[in-house]
Amino acid sequence: MSRTAQSGPVHLTNDGFTAEPRVTPGCAVCQALKKQWWQASDPGNPAYNASHATDLAVELRRHPHPRKTPR
Ligand SMILES: [Zn+2]
Repeated sequence: MSRTAQSGPVHLTNDGFTAEPRVTPGCAVCQALKKQWWQASDPGNPAYNASHATDLAVELRRHPHPRKTPR
């Protein structure tokens, strides 16, 4: 098989704000960030702040989660 067909331009999504960040289950920090993200990304919320929402989303993605593998 050869891949000669191009699938067109790559769709770039907005980094952060519009994309709902993933939350790692069981991580209190992520859940707190997610809660803040919801507030910051909701135009009807007094805490609405689009750029802050982006920051929170980035922070959520970068939050490290060392795997605990008990032996
Ligand atoms: Zn986390």
